[in-house]
Order: sequence, then C-alpha cells, then structure tokens
Amino acid sequence: MKGRPNDLAERLREAIDRNFEDQVTFLGRMVQFPSLRGREQAIQQWLAKQFSERGYKVDQFSLADIDLASHPKAAPMDDIPLEGSHQVVATYEPQDKGQVKGRSLILQGHIDVVPEGPAELWSSPPFAAVIKDGWMMGRGAQDMKAGVSAMIFALDAIRTAGFAPDGRIHLQTVTEEESTGNGALSTIIRGYRADACLIPEPTANTLSRAQVGAIWFRLRVRGTPVHVAYSETGTSAILSAMHLVRAFQDYTKALNARAVENAWFGEVKSPIKFNVGIIKGGDWASSTPAWCDVDCRIGLLPGETPEQAMRGIEQCLADAQAADEFLRDNPAELIWSGFQADPSVCEPGSEAEAVLAAAHQSVFGKPMEDRLSTAVNDTRYYKGMPALCYGPSGIGPHAFDERVELESVRNTTLAIALFVAEWCGLREL
Ligand SMILES: [Zn+2]
Repeated sequence: MKGRPNDLAERLREAIDRNFEDQVTFLGRMVQFPSLRGREQAIQQWLAKQFSERGYKVDQFSLADIDLASHPKAAPMDDIPLEGSHQVVATYEPQDKGQVKGRSLILQGHIDVVPEGPAELWSSPPFAAVIKDGWMMGRGAQDMKAGVSAMIFALDAIRTAGFAPDGRIHLQTVTEEESTGNGALSTIIRGYRADACLIPEPTANTLSRAQVGAIWFRLRVRGTPVHVAYSETGTSAILSAMHLVRAFQDYTKALNARAVENAWFGEVKSPIKFNVGIIKGGDWASSTPAWCDVDCRIGLLPGETPEQAMRGIEQCLADAQAADEFLRDNPAELIWSGFQADPSVCEPGSEAEAVLAAAHQSVFGKPMEDRLSTAVNDTRYYKGMPALCYGPSGIGPHAFDERVELESVRNTTLAIALFVAEWCGLREL
C-alpha cells in the first residue's frame, strides 16, 4: 500500500473500540489463570489456542527443549522443572510473500506473575479480575497481562479495520521474566529474530530508557542447635543471618553513594535496591536455630556486569563473615538462585523509537517521555535490534490490589497498532 490512508488512525480506533469488550473479557480470563512460577502451562495452552484461532502458526516449547545450560546468559532456576516452563511463539506471515517489503517485528510479553500474598489483604480476590470504576484488579492485571492483551488486540484491530501487516510478526508469551529471564532468552536460542522488538510492560505510556540489572542470591546459614536453657553454648542461624543482612544493607548504601556518578542513574536517589525477599529458618521456639535460608535481590547499574556484581556480593559476604566469631569458622553457603541480569540501555535515535514516538503522539496528543527503571525487563536480551519497552498504566505491581486502567489499555492497543502499521507497513484487504 502506498502511503497511509488519512483515516488510518480513525479506522484503527474504531476497530479497537468495536473489539474492546472482547479484549477486556480476554484480559480478565488471563488474570483468572494463577500463572505463578511453575504454574504457567494452563494459560500458555489457552493462549496457544487463541493464537491458532487467529490463523497464526504456533510454536510451543518448554525450557527443557532448549539448550539453556550452554548459553552464557542463562540464569540458574533453582528447583523449578524446565519441562514445566512453557513458551509460546505465534507467527503472522504476510500472505503474498513475493511482495513483502515490510520490516519484521517481535511483540513479547511475560505471563508469569509473582505470588499474591495473603488473599484476605486484597479488596477483592487476587485472581478474580474484578472491574471497578474503569480499572481491572488482579495479580498480573498490570504486570503484564494488560500489555499482552494490547499486543494481541492491536493485530486484531488491524484486521478488523480491513488491513494486513506487510512484515512478519512474532507474538511471544514467555515465562520466567520475574525470576531469571530464561523464557525470553529461550525464544532467542530457538532462533526468533526481527528488525525490532516491542515489550508492552506497564510503563504508563513512557519509553523505558535505561534499566538496572539484578542478581538473586541465597545465603544458607548454619547454627549450633542447643536447648535455649543453655543458649550461650550454641549459636543462632537466624541471628547470624541478621548480621549478614545488615552487612548487605551497609554495602548497598555504599554502592548508592557511588551511583551519583553513573551516566544514566546519577540523578536517581538510591537506584540500587537490596531486598530480603524470603526468610526461612529454625524448627523450634526453644532451640537455637540450626539453619536459616535468606533469599536476596540486589540491583546493578549500566556500566557494570553481572559478573562484577557477583564478585562484589562475594566480597561483602567474606568481609562480614571475617568480622564474626562464629561465621569466620562456619561460613554461610552462597547460592546463585535466579537473576544474573545485565543492566541495559535503549539507545536513543533508532528509527523504531521514532515510529513509536509518532504513534504515541497521535494517540495522546503529546510527546512520548522516557523513564529510568530500577527494575529489570526482558528487552535486555534483544541485541542487534531496537528493543522498546512501552505499555499501559496501572498501580501496584507486586503489591496488594494491583490494577490496570482500562482506558490506558485501549490507548496502548491503538499506539501498538499504529506502530505496527508504520513499522511493518499495511496492505488493504
Ligand atoms: Zn513485568
């Protein structure tokens, strides 16, 4: 098709409006799958069916089908079975291959969600997908099933409006985004590539310009169990763990003091976050605890590699243990338990970014802003192609009452449809 029809945006908006009730139902259905880590199979099978019904070629595989272990960027998955971690890639091919001129595109989203916590602390059940005042509530509604619905329904809208994209498009739904990134990595190992990638994480319709990396580690601390009546003759693994946690808090403070010199994050207050996310330990209230496992996450900034960050963690642990009478001779075991994620920067000036900025401007009537993220996302894997992270608006990722604003889902769907139209090109059906 030569040039865009003048009324393209209008026709796409009409199509999105026409399909929007279905899109909200679709999003609600996705939220109703409690797709926690290791339990993503049901939603992935359901999505694969939705993709086949749309006429896409569907490739389903598990992480066990991929040679993950030999890839330098694969992260350890603890005891999560690889064969249970399912990936889906749906491919749209332009019909008339002889005339294909359009650029290709990967639209990618993760469908794994983090644990919901105590359900009674939510205003409505965490997987009920309750809609109130234009917002859908539920674990994963914002992060990032809304974005996944937007990428699927953007292509639906193009078809409803009477067009077909001129470039090949892979729609990818992956797991492991919240813990290792191995889902996204597996699609690359499987050979999926394109001229650009868009990941509609909930960025409140800004472009994620730079993101931190992250390392997960577990401290396995030992103690000497004795009856509390003679506690001075034993040691407490829980108290030893607390000593180590304080050392990592101080270490993080020191890293953040240096972070003011970082080219990307210098203006962000304390961009390196350290978190103790899980603590398990002890067996009995009247025994000094024999064991304590502490699961931690720490960030790293652009300019540093995961390997450097891991050496820093080892050094912090060694110093803290050297300063402790018991740990000096009974060191904790350090286990790399997940993320070994590189920080990454979306280099300004790509044509894909310009196309997305124009789509955003057309939908919102104002320029697209960018943001710095103190969390990771999967764009870091897409080397050699512009990888854009841009998606809808919501509140409370990983929190109680996580929710997404449905109007922003509608607008994001239109922005993605316009982006596809310009990036891949369209032909009239
Ligand atoms: Zn996410």
